[in-house]
Amino acid sequence: MTARSTCVRCAQPLVQSGSGRPRVYCGLGCRRSAEYEVRRLDARLLQAEKAWAMAMAKARAETSEVRRRQALALVDFWAEEAEDLRGFLDVLLSQGALTAEDDAE
Ligand SMILES: [Zn+2]
Repeated sequence: MTARSTCVRCAQPLVQSGSGRPRVYCGLGCRRSAEYEVRRLDARLLQAEKAWAMAMAKARAETSEVRRRQALALVDFWAEEAEDLRGFLDVLLSQGALTAEDDAE
């Protein structure tokens, strides 16, 4: 893995210490900001998953075909929303949002 030359969060130049795990954030501010975003996305993902499950239960219980289709549209909406949120989380986590840096300030 090649050490980054700029902060993954704010694009400011990074100073690598040369030893330990390479830095990805310029400092504690950007690191905390990434951690905060992970928590926010995680909370939104949980909500989306709950909404998906509720829409799915509603669609299954629906006897009217028209209303069942409407409920299934909502199922699709929440499934897409959850997929998007997982994608955003994956990016943050792959950037090392929750990985300890050896030379963190
Ligand atoms: Zn930064």
